[in-house]
Amino acid sequence: MPDAGQLAFGPGGLDRAAGRRARAAELLPDGSVLALWQGRVLTSAGMPVWLAADDPALAGMGAPVFLGLDPGGCARFAADLSGVLAIPGTGASGPPFDPAPLAHPGTDPALGLLFGDLRQGMTALDPFDAECTATARALLEWHRTHGFCAACGHPSIVAEAGWQRRCPSCGATHFPRTDPVVIMLVTRGNSVLVGRSPGWPEGMYSLLAGFMEPGETVEAAVRREVAEETGILCGAVSYLASQPWPFPASLMLGCRAEAVSQEITLDPAELEDALWLTREEAAKVAAGHHPHLRPVRKGAIAGVLLHKWLAGQLD
Ligand SMILES: [Zn+2]
Repeated sequence: MPDAGQLAFGPGGLDRAAGRRARAAELLPDGSVLALWQGRVLTSAGMPVWLAADDPALAGMGAPVFLGLDPGGCARFAADLSGVLAIPGTGASGPPFDPAPLAHPGTDPALGLLFGDLRQGMTALDPFDAECTATARALLEWHRTHGFCAACGHPSIVAEAGWQRRCPSCGATHFPRTDPVVIMLVTRGNSVLVGRSPGWPEGMYSLLAGFMEPGETVEAAVRREVAEETGILCGAVSYLASQPWPFPASLMLGCRAEAVSQEITLDPAELEDALWLTREEAAKVAAGHHPHLRPVRKGAIAGVLLHKWLAGQLD
């Protein structure tokens, strides 16, 4: 079982205080607000910035969503400035894969307020800020892309301080999505199975992963995904740990699977390549000493599972 401390976006002590949501607006004057723009978080010196609700950097924000209470009992909110700020050099949907930070155009450049890609700095965040930023990103992206009732098509409205949307036409209630993804450490003897998707940076390989399907168990999803992508058959499957992954709304379910076959048959629509790495080869990759493969992203569950396996802590 991985240590929660090695995983980005683990439990951080946020009290979600669901009972306070209906009257959360009363908490705003004494609360603090995290600003996001197209999924990026407002930062200073690489850390998320918590602003007072009347801070000029939040001008025009509308009603923020209520994240909950911090360990000191103060209310924490998050606001989406995507529809408020036009950032020079970005299009309507922004530059989704460019991680370079973007300056907040409504603030003094000397303040150094930048909208940063959460994946770049996630391992440096303290657990509370990490939980809040992950929650804020997932929740605000859901609102940004689910403005219409899925039942009748009418524009829906925000309810419960951001934790629901309601349709004023048909009365339907909609809840924020979380999409489960299985990610699996597939081993056979002394080797681990890794793969790469088309378009990944040169040399990047990681554990196989895929979305669960309706009506499926976690164990069945692991076996199906591995078989579809590589033709490898798996026997025993066990759950190890989970990680919220708000890009945009996934919950990674980290599993261990024992392969019962060896030969790889790639599905080129899913994977560009897959291969078995011995424990010694995988250790070289993780240490950054492999001539062709690069280590997986720090803080992500794939890296933690691989690390634990390499350290013999999953045997
Ligand atoms: Zn409706």
